[in-house]
Amino acid sequence: MSKIEVGILGATGMVGQHFIKFLDGHPMFRLTWLGASERSAGKRYAEAAKWHLGGTAPDAVAGLTVEEAKPGNAPQIVFSAMDASVATEIEQAFAHAGHVVVSNSKNHRMDRDVPLLVPDINPDHLKLIPGQQRARGWKGQIVTNPNCSTMVLTMALAPLKQFGIARVVVTTMQAVSGAGYPGVASMDIVGNVIPFIGGEEEKMQQETQKILGHFAADHIEPLAAKVSAHCNRVAVVDGHTVTVSVEFSSDPSEADLRNALETYSSVPQERNLPSAPKRPVQYMPEADRPQPRKDAERDRGMATFVGRLRPCPVFDWKFVALSHNTIRGAAGAAVLNAELLHSEGHLD
Ligand code: NAP
Repeated sequence: MSKIEVGILGATGMVGQHFIKFLDGHPMFRLTWLGASERSAGKRYAEAAKWHLGGTAPDAVAGLTVEEAKPGNAPQIVFSAMDASVATEIEQAFAHAGHVVVSNSKNHRMDRDVPLLVPDINPDHLKLIPGQQRARGWKGQIVTNPNCSTMVLTMALAPLKQFGIARVVVTTMQAVSGAGYPGVASMDIVGNVIPFIGGEEEKMQQETQKILGHFAADHIEPLAAKVSAHCNRVAVVDGHTVTVSVEFSSDPSEADLRNALETYSSVPQERNLPSAPKRPVQYMPEADRPQPRKDAERDRGMATFVGRLRPCPVFDWKFVALSHNTIRGAAGAAVLNAELLHSEGHLD
């Protein structure tokens, strides 16, 4: 298969670097274009960006010249990891110019006509795109992925939606890598828990309802469940852990819930999309220190792990869930979105 050329808006930032790493050797996409602010434009990537991930930037990328974030030379499909203060207008300009913008920024997630896409959960939300293009006069389109903490929660709840989710209380323990670089001051986070992440709880509540909602002609009808989030930053480098209590409108048994979690599979698995985890949700029966699974390598950080499923004396059931925040919650999520767009014919 000849590879599809892709670009990254915000390539020099923390999430941009995760995109570069995740796309390295990708079987469907070839990274050929890097965009960032005018501070970086005109420089070789290796000069413009301070590489924060393990190892070094791939050679093929280190030598590319960073360009201004303007449509023109960019390939048809661009991943966006720009600072939220500039993403609205720039992403819209690219969509207007005919580009498919696969965004990781918060700016357009809650727009009525923009899919907040998780291919393992709501691939049908892509049906919003024709209306988006008509209403905005765009030849291109914008598709978004959720906030990293929302991703963990929705991946754990999706298999359980069939039991009628009525109320959810979730408490997060979020890694410092989710705050970008330099992120949280070391004197704030070392040996500490920070019980506040600005805007995060509201995002988690609304995004969860939209992702688990259903397509209704020109918008997404949000899931009617009430969701209450408590968001905390903890001294962990990567990986957002959440504890969840759920009330159901039906009366599932423990075996029903475990079976739903363990057998969950959706469109990315049916179509064997390159970044799709073989088992998107993996149940861990151990109370602590789960054993490594044989297929962990294949999942490249894209699976969500659920464990400690037990009765909740206030709601019905409670459990713990964990996902990789910068892979499943950021770059990997957006790349999987692009793979779904390709398989749906949106990149033709
Ligand atoms: P970051 O490290 O600060 O990177 C920001 C990027 O935006 C840089 O490439 C920067 O380019 C670019 N930029 C800034 N001003 C620009 C302009 N006027 N025109 C074009 N590009 C411009 O931020 P980050 O942590 O990677 O986060 C990027 C986005 O992803 C944010 O919207 C964030 O909310 C979202 N997000 C982050 C995470 C995470 O785990 N960090 C998770 C989910 C979502 P220069 O280097 O040239 O300034």
